[in-house]
Amino acid sequence: MNCEVRARLLDELSFAVAEYNRAVNRMINQGKRADPILREMANQAREECAECRAALLEHEREHGCVATLALI
Ligand SMILES: [Zn+2]
Repeated sequence: MNCEVRARLLDELSFAVAEYNRAVNRMINQGKRADPILREMANQAREECAECRAALLEHEREHGCVATLALI
């Protein structure tokens, strides 16, 4: 079944993961001198990933639009 809501939630999760990846890479590039603000940005991005993942899994559970629940 092609569910537009699930597709949107997947896009949001993909975007959030990409943002987290960018934030972590900025920290890596700064090394030991990493700005604490970068760490906070990475933490916020990680929390956004968790929220997007939870929203996706909740939708899949309630809507039943996938044969098996995603293991992501
Ligand atoms: Zn759905």
